[in-house]
Amino acid sequence: MGAGNGFAELQAELKRLARVKNAVILAHNYQRPEVQDAADFVGDSLGLSRRAAESDAEIIVFCGVDFMAETAAILAPEKRVILPEARACCPMAQMVDVEGLQELKDQHPGAWVVSYVNTSAEVKALSDVCCTSANAVQVLQGVPADREIIFTPDRNLGSWAARRAGREVILWEGFCPTHELIQLEDIVRAKQEHPAAKVVVHPECAPEVSAAADAVESTTGMVRYCRGDPAQEFIIGTEAGMVHRLTRDVPGKKYYPATRSAVCPNMKLTTLRKAVEALRWERPVVAVPRDVREKALLAVQRMVEYGR
Ligand code: SF4
Repeated sequence: MGAGNGFAELQAELKRLARVKNAVILAHNYQRPEVQDAADFVGDSLGLSRRAAESDAEIIVFCGVDFMAETAAILAPEKRVILPEARACCPMAQMVDVEGLQELKDQHPGAWVVSYVNTSAEVKALSDVCCTSANAVQVLQGVPADREIIFTPDRNLGSWAARRAGREVILWEGFCPTHELIQLEDIVRAKQEHPAAKVVVHPECAPEVSAAADAVESTTGMVRYCRGDPAQEFIIGTEAGMVHRLTRDVPGKKYYPATRSAVCPNMKLTTLRKAVEALRWERPVVAVPRDVREKALLAVQRMVEYGR
């Protein structure tokens, strides 16, 4: 992609700057297609965290939202982590606060706190282990059997993963406003329009949507599923950007978004031009205060290790 759509020059400039400055460009699966196409790596939170930790680049340009750049800064404090759009946040991550979580911990002494990576660095610092949607089930299975589990902040991922893992969890009532836009009626309508298609949805979707799907997968799991399944058509229940990733990585099959309204406005704030300017001026930089980072690091490292 690029030639003929006006993005080619910006993509070339981003790559040139990255070469000169020894930077790596990471883009989440929900980013704009032209941003995904200019990245060195496109992936989900887990894959991108691993890339950030392993990269020997001096600068990481994180095309995503704030908690992702923070996670990279926790894992790789010696690198300069740039978030091209400083306003790109995750409303779900903002639904859990340190005071409320500390209160819940006090009510359940000894409980392990399992936090989705979609949390602030401060909440990670209060957590025993972080997870992503790609390894939430394994992380829950790894919690000692005699411990209660507090799961923050996503009630949908938490209840889905708990069922799969055979564990009980105390749920924080957070959710993703974008995934909750995907309704059961959207799935029903899409199935009527595409009767041969398999339905694959993200665990951030509401329980009735997950229950109606053929598969519930992280975004990386969706790539694997669509590649391995004999079906030729898929109804995709997650943020709309994922259709581009699938079309690129598993070509020759058809992908229909369950609804076109599932667009995360924060993910779309990052444009190619902003990425170029951010790398040119090497800002805005995302950094995590040392004391918070040190407390959060173990939980994040555990997350990166699970599911290898
Ligand atoms: S899609 Fe949902 S969980 Fe992901 S960044 Fe947007 S609001 Fe947060």
